[in-house]
Amino acid sequence: MKTTISKKNGNGSSKEEILLDMARQNEMDGYEKMDLYNQGTLDKLAFHYKEIIKLIGENPNREGILKTPERVGKAMQFLTHGYDLNPEEILKSAMFKEDYKQMVIVKDIEVYSLCEHHMLPFFGKAHIAYIPNGYIVGLSKIPRVVDAFARRLQIQERLTTEIKESIQNTLNPLGVAVVIEAQHMCMSMRGIQKQNSVSTTSDFTGAFLSEKTRAEFIHLIGSNLH
Ligand SMILES: [Zn+2]
Repeated sequence: MKTTISKKNGNGSSKEEILLDMARQNEMDGYEKMDLYNQGTLDKLAFHYKEIIKLIGENPNREGILKTPERVGKAMQFLTHGYDLNPEEILKSAMFKEDYKQMVIVKDIEVYSLCEHHMLPFFGKAHIAYIPNGYIVGLSKIPRVVDAFARRLQIQERLTTEIKESIQNTLNPLGVAVVIEAQHMCMSMRGIQKQNSVSTTSDFTGAFLSEKTRAEFIHLIGSNLH
């Protein structure tokens, strides 16, 4: 992930330091979250995954597979932990009053999600910008919002719009731009001969509806677009 702020905000970097500290804290929170799962849900998931393993013709008692239902159950809870997160709360927890009115861009945010049609991964990068209108948000919160929506059963189009709306509704900025580029395993793995195709979705509000502002944003993230 790279963060770009298009202009420096005069003197003093204390707020930047606070934001960096918060980013580190969030990373730690992220790692912690990886091991969290609900035992009751896990037992049920493991039971059903064992049935699925039988149905596809495998022997669930084969040594290498013995613990697979439990492992898949844990993995699936992690891959869908976005249902437990409230994106607007995440943003509200780090909003600061600030006069800065230039475009703030967070680009190359890693996205990992599951398509709701096949429950297969789609993954890629999100590029997000907003133009503050009295409030800025801790930069590390933007990738967390992406995760909160991505770690659910999704389609790329809705993921794009949900991220845009949560930022717009919470920060009330002059505009929000969201671009997501992703590769879908349900396309790559299922015999459609478009192995490396990337789908791009975008959604904009406010100032980004003007061609000039949108062009500046696209230019600033441009080196990453295929
Ligand atoms: Zn799919």
